[in-house]
Amino acid sequence: MTMKIDYIIVGLGLAGIALCETLLENKKTFVVFDAGNDTSSTVAAGLYNPVILKRFTPVWNASEQIQKTLPFYEKLENKLGVKIDYKTSVHRIFNSVEEQNRWFEASDKPVLEHFISPKVHINQNKHINAPFGFGEVLQSGRIDTKVLLKAYRDYLLENEWLIEKQFEYSALQLTQRLQYNSIQSKYIVFSEGFGIKNNPFFNYLPLVGNKGELLTIKAPNLKLHNILKSGVFIIPIGEDVYKVGATYNWADKDTTTTFEAREELLAKLHKIVNCNYEVTSHEAGVRPTVIDRKPLVGRHPEFKNLFVLNGLGTHGVMIGPTVAKNLFDFIENEVPLPKEIDICRFS
Ligand SMILES: Cc1cc2nc3c(=O)[nH]c(=O)nc-3n(C[C@H](O)[C@H](O)[C@H](O)COP(=O)(O)OP(=O)(O)OC[C@H]3O[C@@H](n4cnc5c(N)ncnc54)[C@H](O)[C@@H]3O)c2cc1C
Repeated sequence: MTMKIDYIIVGLGLAGIALCETLLENKKTFVVFDAGNDTSSTVAAGLYNPVILKRFTPVWNASEQIQKTLPFYEKLENKLGVKIDYKTSVHRIFNSVEEQNRWFEASDKPVLEHFISPKVHINQNKHINAPFGFGEVLQSGRIDTKVLLKAYRDYLLENEWLIEKQFEYSALQLTQRLQYNSIQSKYIVFSEGFGIKNNPFFNYLPLVGNKGELLTIKAPNLKLHNILKSGVFIIPIGEDVYKVGATYNWADKDTTTTFEAREELLAKLHKIVNCNYEVTSHEAGVRPTVIDRKPLVGRHPEFKNLFVLNGLGTHGVMIGPTVAKNLFDFIENEVPLPKEIDICRFS
């Protein structure tokens, strides 16, 4: 029997989830294909942080993104009945008095005043090396992406909206109403992360991918309650366990963990903490990053009912909800896409 729906979604990471939620809000029907293979979203540290901590400038479109991010994950917590949003300040360790001054100046700028506390915090943790103290980022935190992905898969399965299979591009018939085996759909959206490289319709887009590795450590004496940032992020996740990461590698495009990345992370960690710890796990993923560091959203230049939602890069947690809504408004309401994210910029 033929199943008639509005959308097929290929890929269930942070992008796919954001799109599913947008479709449900607008009473559209869909099924998702995801075989549960490599996903950057489950490896992610899950931080949302509106400030670029190297330059003390806002993340692109930070205000709009934060306004959408916080209610989006709150709604998911309520709907799925799981805790995923851990609101926690990020503490940026200062390396000098000059950095303290630059932070103070940044906090005075209208674009940053809601995101940066002007106060310089004095370090009171003897296991942290921070003689110049640290600055505090407001409206930041961590989404537990592993818990979210698992709960969301279960939710889709319960409703028979998830097909746990690889999508076979060759089986797609590009008729006016798309046909894929026994499914007829108005539209298809590919939200495949780095998997886009195998997609014959969209692999022309300049998604380059950036491999990231992350350690998990147990450090009973560290007693850190905020997210700490210096050479790496140290992220408390409870019960004396911390995530430490991440690396940025433009050359490798696989998900195997490496000795070099572990050494790099430990060397950076040693500069920040001076207590014992044990490494309990090591993970790797490929971020879907684009050469101009902006998302890839839009319609295929030739096949008008094929769309892409990708390029979430290093900020999938924050960008996902905004760009999913942008794509929906573009498809259903003909609202033009912001030109920075529209894939037309590459055609
Ligand atoms: C080490 C590391 C740390 C990170 N830390 C953060 C962080 O702190 N904060 C943050 O915001 N971001 C972080 N990121 C980035 C974040 O992970 C990404 O921005 C985001 O997860 C991308 O989501 P996505 O849905 O586009 O892709 P993915 O999560 O990769 O999901 C794509 C899905 O599509 C599926 N798929 C692909 N092709 C097919 C097909 N043909 N058929 C069926 N399924 C298919 C894949 O199996 C996968 O499940 C980090 C990434 C890494 C690697």
